[in-house]
Amino acid sequence: MNERELIEHIRQLAGGGAAGLLLGIGDDCAVIEKDRETAWLLTMDTLVESVHFRRDWHPPELLGRKTVAVNVSDIAAMGGRPLFALLSLGLPANFSQDWVKQFSQGLAEACREYGCLLIGGDTVCCPERISLTLTVIGEMRKERVLYRQGAQPGDTVFVSGPLGWSAAGLALLQAGKTLEDEKWRQLLLAHLNPQPRVELGRFLAETGLVHSMMDMSDGLATDLAQLCKASRVGAVLEADLLPGSDGLAAAAKFLHEDALRWMISGGEDYELLFTAASTDNERLRQHAAAHGWSIYPVGTITAGQDVVLRRGGIEEQIAFQGFDHFRR
Ligand SMILES: [Mg+2]
Repeated sequence: MNERELIEHIRQLAGGGAAGLLLGIGDDCAVIEKDRETAWLLTMDTLVESVHFRRDWHPPELLGRKTVAVNVSDIAAMGGRPLFALLSLGLPANFSQDWVKQFSQGLAEACREYGCLLIGGDTVCCPERISLTLTVIGEMRKERVLYRQGAQPGDTVFVSGPLGWSAAGLALLQAGKTLEDEKWRQLLLAHLNPQPRVELGRFLAETGLVHSMMDMSDGLATDLAQLCKASRVGAVLEADLLPGSDGLAAAAKFLHEDALRWMISGGEDYELLFTAASTDNERLRQHAAAHGWSIYPVGTITAGQDVVLRRGGIEEQIAFQGFDHFRR
C-alpha cells in the first residue's frame, strides 16, 4: 500500500459527509462552515525525528519554526488566515531541557509572526524519537476558499518561488555542510527554516483570478499530479521555465546531482502551486509584482490526465514521482 492508497482506505472507512462540512479528506485543509460568510480551515502535520529532521543538524529553534511553517503553509494553500494551533509534543524520557526551551522559543516566535495562538495540545513520552504534531485552524471567506479542484484545460500553471532548494539543502546537510558555510546558507535555510507564503496565498485568493491552488510539500511532480487528479485534468510542464537559481546549479555540480531532479521531485519547498486562465496571466503577474511578489508560469493545464515534463522537445511522464512515505 502506498501513501495515497492508505489515505483512500481510511477515507472510505471513516470519512463521509456531515452538516456544515464543506470539504473533508483530500485537500490541504478540511473546510467547515463557520457562519454565513466564513469557513474554518483545519490542518495537521507531523515531523518525526530521523524521517523529517535530524537532531544533530537541525537547530531546535528553527525546527520549532518549521513545525509551525509546514502547517501554516496548508492554510496559505487555501488562501486563508491562520488563527489557532494545538501542539502534540512527543519527547524521549531523557530529553534535554535546553533543546525543548529553544524549540519552544522558535515555535512561539513563528506562531506570533503568522498570527496564530497556541490554545492546547498534549505532551507524551516517545521512547525512541522526537515527534512533533501541530494542528492549525484558520479561517477564510467561504466564497474565496481556493481548492485543488478547479483547474481548467488551457490554464497556466504557476509556482510562487524557486523549486528544489529544500532538497538541495538536505543533500548539502547530508554531505556535512552547516549553516556556517556562507556559500550554501540560503539552500540550507530553505530546508531548515522554510517560509510559507501566507500573505501571497491570501492575496491570490482575493484576486478571484485563481482557479485552483495547493502548497508544495512532496515535490512538483507529485503535487501537480494531485492538483490535476482533483481537477480531472492533465498538465504539461516546460523544463526551461522552472525557477531554480545559480546556487542550486552550483550545489548540483558540487554534489554530482541533477538540479532538474531536485526541482521536479524534491519535497518541502512550501511554495504555492496554482492555476489561472492564460488570458489573466499578465494581470495576475502585474498585481503580484505591485506587492513585491514574483510568480512563475511553468506550464499549462491540458484536457488529458497525464502530467508531462517537456524538455528539449522530448516529453516525459512524471506524475507522482515526488516523495511518498510508503513507496516500496
Ligand atoms: Mg499541502
